[in-house]
Amino acid sequence: MTQLDTPLSKAIRTTPSHLRRLKEMKIETVADILTYFPWRYTDQREVTRIIDIKLDEINVIRGRLLTIKSGNPWRRRISITTSLISDESGTVEAVWFNQPYLLRTLIQGKEVIVSGKAKYNKKKGRLFLQSPDIELIKDQQIHTARIVPVYHETEISAARKAPGKISSKWIREKLFPLMDFADEFEDFLPPEIIKEHSLMALNKAIRNVHFPESEKTLDDAKRRLGFDELFLIQLAALHRRYMWRKTSKKEHKQMPADWELMKTFTQSLPWPLTNAQKKSIYEIIKDLEQPYPMSRLLEGDTGSGKTVVAAAAILHAIKAGWQVCLLAPTEILARQHLKTITKVLAKFYIEPVLMTGSTPTKDKKSIIEGLANGSCSLVIGTHALLQEGIAFKRLGLAIIDEQHRFGVRQRELLKTHASPHVLNLTATPIPRTLALVLYGDHDLSILDEMPPGRQKIITRVVPENKRSEAYNWIKNEIEKGSQAFIIFPLIEESEELQVKAAISEFERLKSDIFPGLSVGLLHGRMKPEEKDTAMQAFSNGKIQVLVSTAVVEVGVDVPNATIMMIEGAERFGLAQLHQFRGRVGRGQKQSYCFLFPTLQIPQILQRLNALVKYNSGFKLAEVDLQLRGPGEVYGTAQSGIPDLKMASLGNSELIKETRAAATYIIECDPELIKYTKLKGKILEQQNVAIDY
Ligand code: ADP
Ligand code: MG
Repeated sequence: MTQLDTPLSKAIRTTPSHLRRLKEMKIETVADILTYFPWRYTDQREVTRIIDIKLDEINVIRGRLLTIKSGNPWRRRISITTSLISDESGTVEAVWFNQPYLLRTLIQGKEVIVSGKAKYNKKKGRLFLQSPDIELIKDQQIHTARIVPVYHETEISAARKAPGKISSKWIREKLFPLMDFADEFEDFLPPEIIKEHSLMALNKAIRNVHFPESEKTLDDAKRRLGFDELFLIQLAALHRRYMWRKTSKKEHKQMPADWELMKTFTQSLPWPLTNAQKKSIYEIIKDLEQPYPMSRLLEGDTGSGKTVVAAAAILHAIKAGWQVCLLAPTEILARQHLKTITKVLAKFYIEPVLMTGSTPTKDKKSIIEGLANGSCSLVIGTHALLQEGIAFKRLGLAIIDEQHRFGVRQRELLKTHASPHVLNLTATPIPRTLALVLYGDHDLSILDEMPPGRQKIITRVVPENKRSEAYNWIKNEIEKGSQAFIIFPLIEESEELQVKAAISEFERLKSDIFPGLSVGLLHGRMKPEEKDTAMQAFSNGKIQVLVSTAVVEVGVDVPNATIMMIEGAERFGLAQLHQFRGRVGRGQKQSYCFLFPTLQIPQILQRLNALVKYNSGFKLAEVDLQLRGPGEVYGTAQSGIPDLKMASLGNSELIKETRAAATYIIECDPELIKYTKLKGKILEQQNVAIDY
């Protein structure tokens, strides 16, 4: 145990309720609070003369406290503290509401620094400072007259109800005396990396990220800490990839490239492949040749033709004598893959079998047998394929659609089936640099090009006063034979409430808006079979309008669905809205996407208009990243995006630089035998032993 592990209860003087709040924020030790980084700063270095105070701006002044008094002026429950402060240029009044304790901490006649917004007092006809920060002059200012750190505070609702609010000011006050502990952080980066990338020392960076000496040292501190985050994630990924390749080498499923076969396949298709598809197939076949398993991510918008690329890989692996499995997150998606793949591989005498939760036991048994004795070369299925007791005779390639829906189980499959080549498919558009961090142990193929002739979906942001007009128009289209999705955001706090909201909205639409049409419902609380049933009914036209929470299965093709209507559209990210939109326009008929924001404010309208303007998921992901940042865009839980304190994911230069550094280390010492500190750091960050 080092000093850094000292519990905060021993290191600072505070109340139990503050300690409880800190614990909720996962801040329990000295190290925790020192690594609780500010999320922004205010620059208050420039001191203004009182005579130069500017209206509606933050002004930092330095002066003497002439008077200070508190009172309850209008006999209300509110207390007002006022003070006169003067410097050689003049005098100004400062006013605080409900901060009577200021009387105790401030002493008349003392020199102070005050920082706050200047407002105009109409009655008195002069400027005053509204609720400014105020601090007695010390050797070193913490709250004013410097670059001041601002921390994420506890949620206001919680703080109002209970004591122990952790404010930025509170953190600054408690943190400042602890800053000497910064020297206890061991710099885990190898000296050559620090030198090569001109990085600030870790202890200095921690000091400066909280209480910067200057703008330059703050920038350097942020760069160093951001470097650490990105570097460690990528180092861990490259190390993991190395170990995976190494441990599976004995078992490897090298498949000599058969370009003739790929040519025959391409020529057998009813349309030419896009260049992006050709390139991806090339990259995959190159991987299959290697003496270690492929670990590749194929990214592309829905409709970009991922399944066809997967089919090429399947054909290649099967002709090389291996078995292949394709995993989809739901039965309906599995069926869809089955359909496409059966079609494109029929000429090659490959007949996939389908195995899902609803496969009859008798059929299941014979499939399991076929997989075990090798007579079945291609199985397409769902989680049902991951159950125990399923063994492949010679599994060479596993294709996993939307892998984030599988998680740990997928890794189990890989283990039980002796490291096949793995190809992951995803419709989430992740820019290449970001993918280095998020999927650092994968290689990446991108389908950034749509097959020609795809229709452009007409997208509109609909104001509230056009709602009934839109309903009428939709009703009319449906009566002419179309189908529509209506998506509801998950706005309620609990899932139960969400479901209730969706159900009541569903009832309203069914009886008031679309009477006479068949309206169906899909929500997160339904069992997988129920969801599948609802989707099937929509898919074969029994349901005309499908009301759904955001669970609509990604990738389902319903060619007759031409209308996508999204409620509370501003609550979704652009990439997600784009995925919803991808549910329509799958057939010949012109399709439409209507976005209904609950708030009609310019910022929201501007963001939603990006969808009107852009058709490419990659382009929209970029815009979204700029507007909202990666955490918001990809969600933390769903895509396994790491929760990065320095928010460095948007910094593609730094991502590239850290990639180079991590690659260098892995090339020198892939098992991190020499770099024990780095290895320790990786293990500590992952919080669990790396498990191959
Ligand atoms: P994804 O899985 O990326 O959503 P699919 O592979 O299911 O896309 O392809 C969508 C549709 O486009 C399918 O009906 C498929 O047959 C068709 N398709 C795929 N590639 C091409 C191409 N190069 N030209 C024309 N149509 C294509
Ligand atoms: Mg697909």
